[in-house]
Amino acid sequence: MTHHSSERPGKIVCVGRNYREHAKELGNEVPKEPLIFLKPPSSVIRSGDAIVMPGASSQVEFEGEIGIVIGKRLTGASEDEGRAAIRGIVAVNDVTARDLQKTDSQWTRAKGFDTFCPLGEESSTFPALDDLTVVTRVNGTERQRGRSSEMVFSIPALLANISRIMTLEPGDLVATGTPSGVGPLAEGDSVEVEIPGVSRVTNTVTRSR
Ligand code: ZN
Repeated sequence: MTHHSSERPGKIVCVGRNYREHAKELGNEVPKEPLIFLKPPSSVIRSGDAIVMPGASSQVEFEGEIGIVIGKRLTGASEDEGRAAIRGIVAVNDVTARDLQKTDSQWTRAKGFDTFCPLGEESSTFPALDDLTVVTRVNGTERQRGRSSEMVFSIPALLANISRIMTLEPGDLVATGTPSGVGPLAEGDSVEVEIPGVSRVTNTVTRSR
């Protein structure tokens, strides 16, 4: 079953540095607790829409991620309760203005521009949570490949942890972090994030004028 694509998450909770090799490639340590931030729902686009690089940035990068769509309200949840509350899985591109992420001490601007959250179709049919794969391709060339088994914090652990900070509500999205291999996008590129057999999102890149 897929949910119709016009639905927008109530909130988008993202996880930073949840793969050891990605933390390393940006010169960061793996955090002791999940490092979370929010993307605004207004950043959501769908497959086929354009990612618009803003004039404020000269380094817009892709981050392919496994997205978890919440189906049941979670507050102070256990890992088992978190697992049971998952409604579906969706491919996410956590598009990031890397230069602004480095210069700003808060990531709201770097992560929050319009079009910076391409989402694939949601699927309620998916492999075991520790057996998901995410692949990113730019112009058909594979650039990232990560497995949920490589995450620093597992999907149920993330849901439990986040629900102790903020209530997760039906329709909310949790983006679970990106594996290594992130890199810049250029005008005219086609970028695709795929969770094989589950969800895929493909977008072309333009520049604002
Ligand atoms: Zn990310």
